[in-house]
Amino acid sequence: MNETLSRSHAAALDATDPLGHLRDAFVFPQHNGADQTYLVGNSLGLQPRQARAMVQEVLDQWGALAVEGHFTGPTQWLTYHQLVRTPLAQVVGALPSEVVAMNTLSVNLHLMMVSFYRPTRERPAILIEAGAFPSDRHAVESQIRFHGFDPANDLIEVEADAADGTISTAAIERAIADHGPRLALVLWPGIQYRTGQAFALGEIARLAHAQGAVAGFDLAHAVGNLPLSLHDDGADFAVWCHYKYLNAGPGAVGGCFVHERHAHNEYPRFAGWWGHEQHSRFQMGPRFVPTPGAEGWQLSNPPILALAPLRASLALFEQAGMPALRRKSEQLTGHLEQLIHTRVPQLLQIVTPAEPERRGCQLSLRVIGGRERGRALFEYLHAAGVLGDWREPDVIRISPVPLYNHFADLHRFVEVVEAWAGTANA
Ligand SMILES: *Cc1c(COP(=O)(O)O)cnc(C)c1O
Repeated sequence: MNETLSRSHAAALDATDPLGHLRDAFVFPQHNGADQTYLVGNSLGLQPRQARAMVQEVLDQWGALAVEGHFTGPTQWLTYHQLVRTPLAQVVGALPSEVVAMNTLSVNLHLMMVSFYRPTRERPAILIEAGAFPSDRHAVESQIRFHGFDPANDLIEVEADAADGTISTAAIERAIADHGPRLALVLWPGIQYRTGQAFALGEIARLAHAQGAVAGFDLAHAVGNLPLSLHDDGADFAVWCHYKYLNAGPGAVGGCFVHERHAHNEYPRFAGWWGHEQHSRFQMGPRFVPTPGAEGWQLSNPPILALAPLRASLALFEQAGMPALRRKSEQLTGHLEQLIHTRVPQLLQIVTPAEPERRGCQLSLRVIGGRERGRALFEYLHAAGVLGDWREPDVIRISPVPLYNHFADLHRFVEVVEAWAGTANA
């Protein structure tokens, strides 16, 4: 066997990994007295140990100060959402004024479309990828109907043009060109959730803009996974959630980006008092004056308890830095890919593109032999304490997360797959 794929080599990689110690900053679910092999950060990131202290701090402040907590001390609630603004801007490659943590992903997507999806009779269409995440599809379809248009004509879905279900840049380019004059909005994922394919967002924004369309991104699977450069890529808006790679907990407060060039825009928006400029908000006047930038889209005073864990996670991202995380991520995912190719090629087919620039940390693995076999393997892994997730009809998603996964986790995964292959179910 190739020496670089031995377990002892993996142990050496873990021992010398400058980010390896960050694993201890997270709480791992236990399986038979040991840490689970947790490879499903694409679905719910692990709990940062500091999250508890951050939540406790809010509870303590509430108990000790009650209403005064809004205006007292460095973690006062009036400006609490701003504590995450700068580190979040770093993670997504934006100016601090371009990002805000608020609501949840699907809510933010609707709020962004209220402002940035402005269909006309000549230009009513939204372009998305075929097989988009259901919530995104529901959101765009309902927005099209809300404006009196018909999704049958005006929702354009770009089909995969490769056998593995991925979509080439050429296919996206063709679709945008073909429908150009009718396109109001191109809404594209940073990483497609099912295949794990990453897209050239700057190029997609450029193509959309060249046709006179707005470019919006859903970064649910890209944020905290890939280095992003939203400002330079020129997206009009972007939305994401914080419970996947951002480790901010179930149902965490979501994220939103509005490009600086729209900081003072006059588009319609659904307004609320927390979007009103801060210095005059408490004069409680009747006229809405938006805060410039992304914060102007806030509606309500934020759920402080739900924001607290995000601070804990972002502190770890600041400590590690996205470039170093990405370097390790490419190594981890490349290692997993090699292990699969050399040890279990007859069992698992990798759907996710092989080029590092066309993927994040996740590999989508099609179980050869169909759904029943796939389910059997998935359940065998689960019973052995190896967690991935299942996507119908036959795909297991495995996501080594550079903040808390080790190379040894990948060996454990492949060993359990091999063990399953030796059982009667395989
Ligand atoms: C995870 C995910 C969502 C979830 O939306 P919520 O509003 O946070 O429940 C939406 N879209 C995509 C693409 C996702 O991956």
